[in-house]
Amino acid sequence: MIELTDLTKRYNGVPAVDNLSLRVSEGEIVGLLGPNGAGKSTTILMTTGLIEPDAGQIKIERHIMQKNPLLAKAKIGYMPEDVGFYPGLTAADNLDFFGRLYEMEAGRRKKRIDELLVSVGLDGVSTLVGGYSKGMRQRLGLAKALLNEPPVIILDEPTANLDPVGVSDYRKIVRQAAADGAAILVSSHILSEVSVICSRIALLSRGKLVADGTWQEISDQGSDLIVRVEGRLPLPEFSIGGIRSVSYTPDRTSAVIVASQDIRCEIADAVTSAGVPLRNLQIDSESAEEALLQRFRKEADA
Ligand code: ADP
Repeated sequence: MIELTDLTKRYNGVPAVDNLSLRVSEGEIVGLLGPNGAGKSTTILMTTGLIEPDAGQIKIERHIMQKNPLLAKAKIGYMPEDVGFYPGLTAADNLDFFGRLYEMEAGRRKKRIDELLVSVGLDGVSTLVGGYSKGMRQRLGLAKALLNEPPVIILDEPTANLDPVGVSDYRKIVRQAAADGAAILVSSHILSEVSVICSRIALLSRGKLVADGTWQEISDQGSDLIVRVEGRLPLPEFSIGGIRSVSYTPDRTSAVIVASQDIRCEIADAVTSAGVPLRNLQIDSESAEEALLQRFRKEADA
């Protein structure tokens, strides 16, 4: 469990994180999302005990970071944006080094390292870490963060250098760790990544938490949704509450509808009752991402 209470950190009198409270429970994956400069790294550095807050409290499992930093830090598996490894060692030997540091018993250490190298797709790779690509380093970083099965996992921009296979492996591993009971905090500036993996999203803007909820709850809060609808015949006029605008193609067989809420069911009803067979009906997630980012920017500029 991670519990941040009223955290504040200022640089030269300017708050980078401003009175932030956030909880991540066992089995939850929470995404810390915001544009560059929103305060994500500062929040993560405070949560991992690498920098001290000016005010507020960080609790990791039963331990308060400011009172018992060693006990609190021992519960955290942390993957920074760039993990330091020994370039002259293999992945297995690097993990073995960290496993010894964590005082993992030899048998458990070997079993865990073998398992993790398979999950992150680095088993059987004999190249020394110095010759790794950024993506391979990131895969190894994830294995290191999970090595001693920590109850709290903190990942900073974990997919920044991964290819699609790497991203898919990463999602599987992180979902499994949450299913095994870990509390997981993932920072990212990529909404689509966070909305896929996270059970909740904490939106940061200028150091402040501006929203905290599921992707559905957040996207329902004031951001317009864009719905695309296509029929096999010209579409009818829509008179449904929540619609802000409708633009039809010249042949009227498809339309883009801007709405204040999810009105897909009402649209489907209207189309079919007009006798038009429905070809496609979907929320445009890229436009939803853009709408949310515009809201960030407006709040950051306010
Ligand atoms: P993010 O990770 O969301 O991009 P950061 O936590 O890095 O945001 O930064 C939040 C704010 O704090 C920014 O305005 C940044 O310039 C400022 N900041 C971060 N670290 C320092 C530092 N060491 N010294 C001065 N200002 C900093």
